[in-house]
Amino acid sequence: MSNLYPLLERNQTFARTGAHRGLSPIPEHQVFVISCIDPRVDPAHILGVGPGDALVLRNAGGRVTDEVINEIAFIAAVTETMFGDDAPPFEVAVIHHTACGTGLLADDNFRHSFANRIDTDETQLAEAAVTDPTQSVRRDVDRLLASPLVPGRVRVSGHVYDVDTGLVETIVSAAAEASR
Ligand SMILES: [Zn+2]
Repeated sequence: MSNLYPLLERNQTFARTGAHRGLSPIPEHQVFVISCIDPRVDPAHILGVGPGDALVLRNAGGRVTDEVINEIAFIAAVTETMFGDDAPPFEVAVIHHTACGTGLLADDNFRHSFANRIDTDETQLAEAAVTDPTQSVRRDVDRLLASPLVPGRVRVSGHVYDVDTGLVETIVSAAAEASR
């Protein structure tokens, strides 16, 4: 039996609620959340993100990679095509968290063997580690604000979620490149 089976049963319940009906592909809160794949930090739980509320992209650490920047550029292009100059204000919120599994990448033995496994550069892997989430989320916000692919009017914020307290602390308040 598939491990997904108990969750598919929950899907039946969800479909019966009708919460999926009439939703817009444009997120209700005009926010694009980037967070870690860790099951403890799902924005649906820690931020109460419901159906149609937000765009959510998750990867190991919630890091701003080239792929993430391309996704943001895609969404910016879609909204500009749909709304032109009237495109709604948009915020990208990066959330890193304490006790992140990517911290293992700071371990020399683990990083070395994993770099061999996926045939990649060890230095890049070291930079992907979230050992100090306050510091790494600042770096990722700066990277977004500096990217020519992220339109200047897109606001960017950075936050840290504490897995012990359950609280999200804002480290970098929302700012657009144009207002810096
Ligand atoms: Zn994590």
